Amino acid sequence: MSIFQEKKVITRMAPSPTGHLHIGTARTAIFNYLFARKHNGTFILRTEDTDKERSKKEFEDEITDGLAWLGIKWDSFYRQSERTLIYTGYLNTTIEKGSAYVSKEESKMRPGEMVEVVRLKNPNKVISFTDEIRGEISFDTTELGDFVIARSITDPLYHFTVVVDDHEMEVTHVIRGEDHISNTPRQILIQEAIGALRPQYAHLPLILAPDRSKLSKRHGAVMLSDYKHQGFIQPALINYLTLLGWNPGTDQEFFTLDELINAFDLSGVQKGGAIFDVEKLKWFNKEHVSGFSDTDYYDYVTKYITPALLALPQFSTDRLLRLLPTIKERTAAGAEITLECEKGEYDFAFQTPKIEPQMVKWKNDASPKVTLQRLQKLAEIISLMDESFSIDEIKNRIWGYATDAGKGEVLWPLRVSLTGKERSPDPFTVIHIIGPSEAYTRIKRACDTILSDSLA
Ligand code: GLU
Repeated sequence: MSIFQEKKVITRMAPSPTGHLHIGTARTAIFNYLFARKHNGTFILRTEDTDKERSKKEFEDEITDGLAWLGIKWDSFYRQSERTLIYTGYLNTTIEKGSAYVSKEESKMRPGEMVEVVRLKNPNKVISFTDEIRGEISFDTTELGDFVIARSITDPLYHFTVVVDDHEMEVTHVIRGEDHISNTPRQILIQEAIGALRPQYAHLPLILAPDRSKLSKRHGAVMLSDYKHQGFIQPALINYLTLLGWNPGTDQEFFTLDELINAFDLSGVQKGGAIFDVEKLKWFNKEHVSGFSDTDYYDYVTKYITPALLALPQFSTDRLLRLLPTIKERTAAGAEITLECEKGEYDFAFQTPKIEPQMVKWKNDASPKVTLQRLQKLAEIISLMDESFSIDEIKNRIWGYATDAGKGEVLWPLRVSLTGKERSPDPFTVIHIIGPSEAYTRIKRACDTILSDSLA
């Protein structure tokens, strides 16, 4: 039974601002946040910037901006560089108690120079702790010796500051990456030296690449900002990253943030590494985006369509609105919308295509004459359509003729006349997007092209 059982849950995310915000760090923040919220507790964000050379304000900003963007709200914020006096106080008390001592040594960084480091007096014992995810872990600390806890009385090192802060901030649960397991025995020794309570530990599995190696840049994007720029939306990232190493114990995959807060529990966290699968993340993004209102989806799409598409001669908001369901069906994230635009996949909606007469002809049709006859019949049917027709109404008007004369025979030349492409959305959708009157004009133009080609 934990000594924290009765206390209010307090978790913390303690990143060092020495690099970009990795998705693994974002996942750790999410787990801490969910756990705190689930237990009506508090979530602390603490930047561990005691490494003066490597810590950068721009990285701290990236962390705070990234988490804020995700919607992970912290209840309080601390910066270790502003807490030196507190650490010095603890160092002095620990030295006075005899649990640590000042040692005059040659500086490792500046050979020849003598420094006064602070070392912990290691009681040389076996430390055992219960990890919420991995169970009992024991470690013989003898081999650690009297390790250094501060470079000087005013320059404490990571292990010491973490322990002091977790103690001062009354952190009940330390939920962090598996790479910190080996740091835990040292930190427990320091806790015992300063008289701090031991928090519950939960070490999260690593995030692995599909080849089971540690996920790194060579596998593709690893920074949260990369995913943001690619158009992944916050609820999808939170949903996916939470499932990366955590299992709800049911088949449910799609979760809103509130549902996650409700369902999340450390007992569902797996021990083994979690494989990052960008295709799965795309699936989540598509699912979450599909819940957008029409206005939100329109705003989303306009961020990713290209200036070249906007510059096409027939571009209009109205057509773009009618194109949205097609975009939604074909893409999972914003960057894919941009890519589709660059490939010209949506040009048909905003410009009259250039027609290849040979492409318009259905493979079984004997001559251009037959194709022409079909297009003329289609033009007739389309001329009677109303601009406000739905896709179904458009389809109903054409379907009878297509079933009589052959679907390929009718729908192929129709679609190619409208889009100029061998592959594109179905012709009913295309007519709906561009409107029957523009469709009529395009068919007539295709007829002219076929005619002049056959006469040539
Ligand atoms: N500052 C440490 C890091 O960024 C984390 C410390 C902790 O979570 O205990 O890796």
